[in-house]
Amino acid sequence: MLSDNNASKIIKKLLVETARLCFEGRLEEGIDRLVIDTIPKKSNANRCCVHKDRAVIKYRLMAILGHSAEEEEDELKRLSEYAGQTLQREEISEPVLTVIDEACSACPAGRHFVTNVCRGCVARPCMVNCPKDAIQIHNGRAEIDEDKCVNCGICLKVCPYNAIVEIPVPCENACPVGAISKDESGKEQIDYSKCIFCGRCMTACPFGAIMERSQIIDVARKLAEGRKVAALTAPSAAGQFPCEFSQLKGAILKAGFSEVLEVAEGADITAKKEAGEFEEKISEGQKFMTSSCCPVYKEAAKKHIPELCEFISDTPTPMEFAGRKAKEKYPGCTAVFIGPCIAKRQEALEGRSIDHVLTCEELGAILVAKDIFVRETEPAETPGQASIEARKFGASGGVTEAVKANLSGNIQIKPELIDGLDNKNIKKLADICTGKTNFNFVEVMNCKGGCVGGPGNLSTPARAAKRIEKTFEP
Ligand code: SF4
Ligand code: SF4
Repeated sequence: MLSDNNASKIIKKLLVETARLCFEGRLEEGIDRLVIDTIPKKSNANRCCVHKDRAVIKYRLMAILGHSAEEEEDELKRLSEYAGQTLQREEISEPVLTVIDEACSACPAGRHFVTNVCRGCVARPCMVNCPKDAIQIHNGRAEIDEDKCVNCGICLKVCPYNAIVEIPVPCENACPVGAISKDESGKEQIDYSKCIFCGRCMTACPFGAIMERSQIIDVARKLAEGRKVAALTAPSAAGQFPCEFSQLKGAILKAGFSEVLEVAEGADITAKKEAGEFEEKISEGQKFMTSSCCPVYKEAAKKHIPELCEFISDTPTPMEFAGRKAKEKYPGCTAVFIGPCIAKRQEALEGRSIDHVLTCEELGAILVAKDIFVRETEPAETPGQASIEARKFGASGGVTEAVKANLSGNIQIKPELIDGLDNKNIKKLADICTGKTNFNFVEVMNCKGGCVGGPGNLSTPARAAKRIEKTFEP
């Protein structure tokens, strides 16, 4: 979770402490006490009282242990029992997200509101321009009739004093596909038949009520047991830590991973195959082809723009190729993808080559739990063979450059970039299926700026892109 705020800090701290307990072999013994240690009796409550805060921490820890808050059947079931189940499990289950209804504050439905900046002016452009006649002046101030208001926002735009504000429901406002909505009690629930696993609701909620079901303990347990665990670092991971990439590799090995393999090696295979597929399809008369490496985009096409699916490249993703490579190179290993993305958890569940997915934030928590300081770590020069283009896959435009570098020259590529899957770009993608196009290759990235802007990152997209540029400059 990139945004630095109190809710994200609490989650980061819990990730570290839970991983530490696991490495010390005290997870079942210590996890219930962690709730009390995090919210001591005399602490200042974030919510109504420490008991409510503790209940929220309990559900956060359930998510960190990989469980879903919605699965709870017995409120008396202790975290130590959930921890015991996590330590035993070999299979990861859906869904990848969970909504903690104890944490959700059931934010009031989105609306427009007149603040006391309103001066009840003579011009009254809000009242005059409202198409639903929803504004009247009472006691020298504008008032909105919520029964008539349709939230068109015209009043907000025309007020010369900026006296009208829009109060959103942050999670619903952030979701580009209308997959999250209130239940009868006003708490949010996710409709997984619509959800594209972009993680926007998770980063938008100021109460931290939406969380990923983490796999940090599954990985920490295997590391603690000394199993063969290969870390597959996404291209964007290279820009997430304040150190040289070789030091990050050193830190990963020091944490107990047996190997580090750059997913960029898989990106080279993806780019080569995608270039060949592009030339073949365009020469056969297909009007354009889109990239296939962003799982959020593919989920969005499948669930919301099915007419686009025939234009998506059939080439597997860099993660898939890297996973196959790891299984071949290190037989019997557990393959752990490390990147910025929540949707990769879903992709891994549907494939066979990746056993676990960690975000960069979770890798950071493992390093802190093991007292490993990346800046002070000895560099490890693992034999990476990826091209510069593949190593830049994680920033917008990187896929296009890598495909270009692999073209034979028979077909001229005319690229288009969809940088961020917001409502506008989803509509644009739907329109290009039927309309005329002046491009023949479309790179689609759910996150603005590319994977460096993913929800599981630690650094800002600009800083991460700069670090990657510097690390891999020729
Ligand atoms: S933003 Fe959504 S999930 Fe978060 S507290 Fe408000 S309604 Fe609940
Ligand atoms: S993960 Fe994305 S698509 Fe799913 S509910 Fe949240 S914002 Fe909507």
